[in-house]
Amino acid sequence: MVDRTRGKLVVISAPSGAGKTTLVHGLLAREPKLRFSISYTTRPQRPTEVDRQDYFFVDEAQFERMREDGAFLESARVFDHWYGTSRAHVEELLDNGYSVLMEIDWQGAEQIRAAEPRAIGIFILPPSRAELERRLRGRATDDEQVIARRLADAVSDMGHWCDFDYVVINDNVEAAVEELVRILEGTGEAHRVSAPGTAARAERVLSGPAADAG
Ligand code: 5GP
Repeated sequence: MVDRTRGKLVVISAPSGAGKTTLVHGLLAREPKLRFSISYTTRPQRPTEVDRQDYFFVDEAQFERMREDGAFLESARVFDHWYGTSRAHVEELLDNGYSVLMEIDWQGAEQIRAAEPRAIGIFILPPSRAELERRLRGRATDDEQVIARRLADAVSDMGHWCDFDYVVINDNVEAAVEELVRILEGTGEAHRVSAPGTAARAERVLSGPAADAG
């Protein structure tokens, strides 16, 4: 599919509330040859977001046309909206000598890694389920029903950590960014899904108690 003899393809997935966006910004600041892949989405633009910088915001008809034209390396429906990675955008970045960071959900990650086995898949976990719930509740814009759905989706998403190459637990932003840098540099063996201790650490996060609703 993509000629990627030069740059790397890096796929980062996480449940919402894991703090992924902060880590992605931290990683991009550390890696000048790494560029963020700007996805297409049918989700409405949030007030804080900039079109063509955070996402290319399009309507369902345009997204569907692009999908039929094979414009996406992967696409998936997440939280009732479509998201897709632009083939042309990724190819352009690779042609210009950059590595590409895709911040996409686990379904998209699966598609990328099936087509491009050399892509590096990294799953980010929150420090605990209780902390995940606190973070999701901290988003004042969401009502209780939305929070409950996001939490259930996040818990179900977390079950996919073992389908990735690496897992990073975000209990400290600086340390987690450092771990991501090491993974990209090829010295992150300790964070491999198959490394001793990784499964136990991930299971501790997944099986921990939920936060008090109070
Ligand atoms: P949000 O709407 O909160 O920005 O993102 C919701 C979810 O969609 C996140 O899990 C995010 O990683 C995922 N996502 C963003 N862009 C893409 C994409 O291009 N493809 C896929 N499969 N998921 C995406």
